[in-house]
Amino acid sequence: MIYLDYAATTPVDGETLEAMLPYLKESFGNPDSAHTAGRAAARAVSEARAQVAEIVGVSPLEVYFTSGGTEADNWAVRFLAEGRAAVSSIEHAAVIEGAKLRKQGHVLIPADKSGTVTPAAVSDVLTPETGLVCVMAANNETGAVQPLKEISGLCQERNAVLFSDCVQAAGYLDLKEIAALCDAVALSGHKIYAPKGVGALIVKRGVKLAPMIAGGEQERSLRGGTLNVAGIVGFSVALAKAQREREKNAKHVGALQTLFEEKIKAAFSDSAVIDGENRLPNITHVTFENAPNALLAKLDLAGLCVSGGAACSAHSALPSHVMLAMGRSEEEARRGVRFSFGRETTREEILKAVDIIKECIS
Ligand code: PLP
Repeated sequence: MIYLDYAATTPVDGETLEAMLPYLKESFGNPDSAHTAGRAAARAVSEARAQVAEIVGVSPLEVYFTSGGTEADNWAVRFLAEGRAAVSSIEHAAVIEGAKLRKQGHVLIPADKSGTVTPAAVSDVLTPETGLVCVMAANNETGAVQPLKEISGLCQERNAVLFSDCVQAAGYLDLKEIAALCDAVALSGHKIYAPKGVGALIVKRGVKLAPMIAGGEQERSLRGGTLNVAGIVGFSVALAKAQREREKNAKHVGALQTLFEEKIKAAFSDSAVIDGENRLPNITHVTFENAPNALLAKLDLAGLCVSGGAACSAHSALPSHVMLAMGRSEEEARRGVRFSFGRETTREEILKAVDIIKECIS
């Protein structure tokens, strides 16, 4: 099996797993318990919080642990700031669908053909009622990196809170730099070699945040629920490693991305379009003109695991909303395939994958 779906999820890193194991076994206490076992778990959470804060360049009190990217996105788009939200049309479903539940309502910000949300498009939808702007740092289907610097300037001028989903960006972009531009960011563990089911919402002090999950007094009474201690420890270790080794990893996957795209262009010339501009080094989304029906299933049968867009929409018959937002027809949007590369991907796998793609499309 060749796995080229690292944007869907990654395996757990060995060092991360080692750091987590004690909190699943001997140090299994509830971090809210006042006794010795509880205090050991609370200490681990507090160290992980400090580490995440340091990496992102915020204070530990600005870090809220969540069950992953979806919860962090929902929390932000529904409960952050006052007023109406302006939400980019290429956001992950967690933001787009979450926005529909925002009490103060929302408007969508269009993207251009290259999958970019331009500052002009943001400016066009901002009104005095806009309290929150949601634009992701990098898109999960095309990898397109968004112009957050300019958008951040606009939000400051117009007094709107800026939230950015950094779930895909965390492995390849400088989180400190992005967080400095935003009022809030969302992160997820399983895209950066930590386990599934853990992530964080970072919210700067002074920005209004209401609770989404009512319960105990965890996370400063803003997010009820016993903390996933082992997951949080793993998340902090994996995030530190992802940011520390960001450039090395980007070089590795970037070289593979270049090789893959060269081979695809050589094999398909104009009948394959590589979608998006200014992309992350690990994602290549291709629209194949002659894609047969059930291409993804054919690729899978031939031993290549890839996706048609976001993994969480893989069972949906609907065309990708990101491709539609980029001006593609429904029919074109159905011919897209996302290939994404990771630390373990090799040159041999890329070459073999291209052979499989050629076999399945010819
Ligand atoms: N945001 C983006 C950009 C994603 O790619 C994903 C995962 O597919 C999510 C949010 C959701 O994160 P999680 O799977 O941790 O809920």
